[in-house]
Amino acid sequence: MGALRVDEGYIVSMASKLISINSENPPGREAEIASFLAERLSELGLKARVDAFDGRANCIGASKDFGGADLLLLTHLDTVPAGERRAWSTPPFGGVIRDGRLYGRGAADAKGCIASMLGALKALADGGVELGGGGLVFAAVADEEAESQGVRRLLGSGFRSRYAVVGEPTSFRVCVAHKGRLVAAVKIAGRCAHSSRPELGVNALYAAAELALGIEELSKKISGRRHPLLGSPIASATILRAGEKDNMVPGWAEVILDYRALPDEDLSTIIDEFRRIAEEIDRRRKARHEILVLRWVPPSETDPSSRIIEAAAEAVRTVLGREPEIAGFQATCDMSYLVNEARIPSVILGPGSLEQAHSVDEWVSVSELITAAKIYALIILGILEPAYAPDSS
Ligand SMILES: [Zn+2]
Repeated sequence: MGALRVDEGYIVSMASKLISINSENPPGREAEIASFLAERLSELGLKARVDAFDGRANCIGASKDFGGADLLLLTHLDTVPAGERRAWSTPPFGGVIRDGRLYGRGAADAKGCIASMLGALKALADGGVELGGGGLVFAAVADEEAESQGVRRLLGSGFRSRYAVVGEPTSFRVCVAHKGRLVAAVKIAGRCAHSSRPELGVNALYAAAELALGIEELSKKISGRRHPLLGSPIASATILRAGEKDNMVPGWAEVILDYRALPDEDLSTIIDEFRRIAEEIDRRRKARHEILVLRWVPPSETDPSSRIIEAAAEAVRTVLGREPEIAGFQATCDMSYLVNEARIPSVILGPGSLEQAHSVDEWVSVSELITAAKIYALIILGILEPAYAPDSS
């Protein structure tokens, strides 16, 4: 990185401090971590503000303008809950370092990314780099782990960027596509009867069980559909609720379905597949079904020729000294909103692995935090064509 230096002590202490500020979602309490981060961004010479809304908060820093940028660095403030404290071998909000690993809730997802992005911004500030072009915006948003209220608020305010990097644990793979996720409830109405006279009723539980097995069949059927980076779509039945009393034929049931969609699959096509299975069961069992969409996060994909992919790949190549892996991200994330709602070509890239995310004893490697800061700094330099930068070759 030529004359640019990352401050390793700063990155590690920031990551540890961020972990120590509890931002579990639910309930989602981002206010404290957002104001801590806004102070750090001000220290690095950025304009910084906390956008508080409905008990939630985004933290935004801008080199030029809050309304738009050439490059958006996006990551999230919230974490999933730590769960049972006693299951952890280090305190989940301790930010403890042991054997080169930083432990705690959010270490990988995504407080490590925040710390590495801060480290990149500090390296540029320390190096006296003047960011050119349309500027940079760093946004650490609320509620990524639930309803993505934070990124939706950012885009709803009219904010736009030419390109974006989404900080999530990818083990330095440059992820240019991700699966979508549908959660649907299928409500099945049968008819109650005394269980000594089942022929008088319609057992909704049997219909629900058949539906669940039908979804298993569907998952096998669609396994032939393949995306070069994301593999196959996946359909699962994840919850079945039915029945009221042990001597009654259940008159209702509900099955929750989870579908992981490829970029060329849309909501109505997926619902049609569920409906075909449910209608067949209705006919045979004289039941009635209704399908409700509980959540839909569409898949997205960035054009392979986009400059942000090239800039990210070049940064990884320079820092790691090997060919970067261009890959797909199996989970959903805020990239969906950037691409589908705002047409911002994006990549997902960060330290740590998705296996660590949401797990007990979550950790991220300290050396990966440092490496990620170097990579983010090079991406910023690559996109923003700085007016002045010390030898960055
Ligand atoms: Zn995340």
